[in-house]
Amino acid sequence: MILGSDASGVIDEVGPGVAGVRPGDRVFVAPGYSCGRCTECLSAQDPLCKDYGMFGEHRDGVQAEYVALPVSNVLPLPEGLSFEEGAAFPLVFLTAWHMLVARAGVRVGEDVLVHAGGSGVGTAAIQIARLHGARVFTTVGSDDKADRARALGADVAINHRKTDFLEEIRRLTGKRGVDVVVESVGQETWDRSLKGLARGGRMVTCGATSGYQGMTDIRYIYTKGLSILGSTMGTRAELARVARLIGDRRLKPVIDRVLPLASAAEGHRIMADRSLFGKVILKP
Ligand code: ZN
Repeated sequence: MILGSDASGVIDEVGPGVAGVRPGDRVFVAPGYSCGRCTECLSAQDPLCKDYGMFGEHRDGVQAEYVALPVSNVLPLPEGLSFEEGAAFPLVFLTAWHMLVARAGVRVGEDVLVHAGGSGVGTAAIQIARLHGARVFTTVGSDDKADRARALGADVAINHRKTDFLEEIRRLTGKRGVDVVVESVGQETWDRSLKGLARGGRMVTCGATSGYQGMTDIRYIYTKGLSILGSTMGTRAELARVARLIGDRRLKPVIDRVLPLASAAEGHRIMADRSLFGKVILKP
């Protein structure tokens, strides 16, 4: 989007992270907001702020021609990126980065399983795990999506409609399991995700799209020294880092299609059917 101005034509309040942003600049939207004053905010843990929220979830979102946002939520769009790319990357890359890097601490040579490789977070997590030198397994719902996930950098794409992913992970890792599971599916996969972890493995979750009551066999947790980690969104510093890597083309936003804003309902239907790979963009 292009940054507008107030009635006087000047934005003189410059919040953290927006130094140098002026009316007319090309910007992208930081999807989360927090109070900026509490202990969590001041220790760079803004997603843990008790007032943390997301545009489109806790407040009105940006499916509109014009939006009013706190000035601290607009950041310069890296050079060379289209507005569509600027709309596609912030939420999913921030989420996936915080999960893999800050929470799970992924390391070179580790095995990572990313669920829902065709989802927005999945397409980001595949690339981020790969960037950190991991071997990447992913689950997808069709052979077409498997091809696309491999093209993004996944070493192995498992069609979960044809094969049980847990059996496949055990087979491919010689029964060892993976070091990290990126979970967002929830109830449908939770138990098998835990069982697919290697000793000392970490499972990091950011969602529960299939239901929120996962079965946990507690014996696996203590005998194998597993960690279950929660994660939501990420910090401003992480968003700045992700934006730089996107600008440098080391990470690539994945756009399934661009629809006119008037087709917002169609965009939501596509999301609900899971008949997409990456993000649907609405263009005003
Ligand atoms: Zn706060």
